[in-house]
Amino acid sequence: MADVMLEIKLVSFGSKQKLLICRDISQVEKLDAMRRDFIANVSHELRTPLTVVGGFLETLQDIDGAVPPSTKSYFNMMQEQTSRMRRLIEDLLMLSQLENSSILPQDSEIDVPKLLDLVMKEAHSLSNGRHHIKLESDNSIWMLGAQEELHSAFGNLVSNAVRYTPEGGTITLQWQARGQDAVFSVTDTGIGIEHKHIARITERFYRVDRSRSRETGGTGLGLSIVKHILSRHQGRLEIDSELGAGSTFRMVFAKNRVLRKS
Ligand code: ADP
Repeated sequence: MADVMLEIKLVSFGSKQKLLICRDISQVEKLDAMRRDFIANVSHELRTPLTVVGGFLETLQDIDGAVPPSTKSYFNMMQEQTSRMRRLIEDLLMLSQLENSSILPQDSEIDVPKLLDLVMKEAHSLSNGRHHIKLESDNSIWMLGAQEELHSAFGNLVSNAVRYTPEGGTITLQWQARGQDAVFSVTDTGIGIEHKHIARITERFYRVDRSRSRETGGTGLGLSIVKHILSRHQGRLEIDSELGAGSTFRMVFAKNRVLRKS
């Protein structure tokens, strides 16, 4: 017999009446699983041909001899587009892996301050001297989690800050305690987000300004990845932003994930 999946909801009306709603969501779940598998398979299959195309493009660019400037610029454009596709495929694969597995990889003790040193290096390399980037981190706070996933989540927030902050702006990374919880925040003085968009920006492919996201190398999947990683670590995302003034993205981890080192 096929498995049946039920969704049960208790809805209250006023103070006395309650309604129990029971819905068969087996078909919805099945279709969603098919969609996730399809995306995972397609992304995986696209990886190899793209690597081959990228490799040949590099070889062509290295060929000595008189190549007209227009041809050179076509090569560069092709290389940029291949890199963009590669980033998109990597993000799609990461997202489908996160969606497909409910099991968190083995929890380990994460030295967050050390991980943030690495994230800072990556931020500097992405910014290429265009921003002031600061890190304030409490070295006594570590956490329990999956190193690679946390690296990706922290990195995504920081790379967004770099991409959506004009030259000369300031980006501040903070890792600190809030009561018994721990908070990682990224504050930028960038373009900010209009209030009406904030609730939707963690949806897949939701972008406030599609062309700006593309121009700056975005895939539209970064915050969706962050949201999944956070939910696997029982964390939550807080966003404060003002259009034209900047944004703060905060990841809050509950006390059961926090480790204090002396
Ligand atoms: P993208 O790859 O397009 O940046 P994300 O999922 O990372 O995709 O972010 C979704 C959208 O949220 C972005 O397209 C951008 O409009 C907005 N956004 C994210 N971070 C910031 C930020 N620090 N400042 C302004 N807008 C941001």
